[in-house]
Amino acid sequence: MKILVVNCGSSSIKYQLFLMPEKMVLAKGLLERIGEAEPSLLHTARGLSHRSFVDAPTHESGIDLILTTLTSGPNPALAKIEEINAVGHRVVHGAAEFTDSVLIDDGVLSTIERMADLAPLHNPPNLVGIRATMRFLPGIPQVASFDTAFHATLPSAAHSYSLPYELCERLGVRRFGFHGTSHRYVSWRAAELLGINRSEIHCITCHLGNGCSMTAVRNGRSVDTSMGLTPLEGLVMGTRCGDIDPAILLYLMGHGFSAAALNKMCNKESGLLGISGSSNDMRELEERASAGDRRARLAIDIFCYRVKKYIGAYAAVLGRVDAVVFTGGIGENEAGVRAQCCSDLLLLGIEIDPDRNVLTRGREGEIQSDRSRVKLLVVPTDEEGAIAGDTYQLVRRN
Ligand code: ADP
Repeated sequence: MKILVVNCGSSSIKYQLFLMPEKMVLAKGLLERIGEAEPSLLHTARGLSHRSFVDAPTHESGIDLILTTLTSGPNPALAKIEEINAVGHRVVHGAAEFTDSVLIDDGVLSTIERMADLAPLHNPPNLVGIRATMRFLPGIPQVASFDTAFHATLPSAAHSYSLPYELCERLGVRRFGFHGTSHRYVSWRAAELLGINRSEIHCITCHLGNGCSMTAVRNGRSVDTSMGLTPLEGLVMGTRCGDIDPAILLYLMGHGFSAAALNKMCNKESGLLGISGSSNDMRELEERASAGDRRARLAIDIFCYRVKKYIGAYAAVLGRVDAVVFTGGIGENEAGVRAQCCSDLLLLGIEIDPDRNVLTRGREGEIQSDRSRVKLLVVPTDEEGAIAGDTYQLVRRN
């Protein structure tokens, strides 16, 4: 079975074509700057990569272009488009409605549409991608995989906010959590690597990329997670602030800031970028910090301090921690950040091995010292592979 996985962002579309159940990647690519100046497509198939400047004014034209690229052009992966048996879509917000991946029908589409209010940057492009794919590939089963689904198992003490109860009930205000496909994949993969049954592993997963979140996993299920009603809560991120005193926003409103300005500030102008004043990219900040940039150093320090606090909090939540798992662009590659997040945690049985840590970049590996009670793992995430797996299971079952 050949399964196309599509991840439509606000101005980009990522895709991967899998041969299932082997999970062999036949092609993958990234279309960037949709609707902006000079959109470009990076397409890889059969070991060859091509970058080209393309015409992609809308997401719909982008999907059309990707489907054409897969079948014709300089580096096709398919003889004809009919070879695609199913499509899996990443959808950011499934709220409480979706606790697992689902086959898409009209009811699912309208529910995702209703969620747009909660994820205005993410759900609308997800939906446009689904609709376009349905139009270009009529009759092909389409599956939605939700970032929120893995966190459907959060107990009420973890998903409820301490605001007036009826208000939260009425407006659906609660913690949903995100990056669920990634937290599920890396926690279950960690269980596999450690020879622990998936339904028994207790671990803390740290997805550290542009967006960052952590999850406490008990017996293979999410029991707490750092993102909340929206992907703004929790860790310091590339441009998002994460946890702050909510009264800061009220204080700033008193100084003339509008809701729209605060929304933009907290989502786009804060985090690593806001603190450093120079970059949201951890690699660049490491370079600047080494060259003596004090604010770049501060941004990294606050980032790591927050991760460390959540490790402590989630150790308390879980009671027993088999592993702490690092993933995402920073978690997979930045040994310095991992070392700082795990520093002085012998109290919790956590100690990193400096050499193993530095040698493990962008690949699976154990990085704890010999006396660390807790395993420390690097596990590159594979959200697309997990979505392809869900799509395969759902299509086979139906
Ligand atoms: P996204 O959340 O957009 O998927 P990524 O998971 O790609 O983001 O993470 C991007 C972050 O990872 C950036 O801060 C970047 O500096 C950092 N990073 C460090 N090393 C690498 C690397 N080798 N490849 C990609 N990102 C890296």
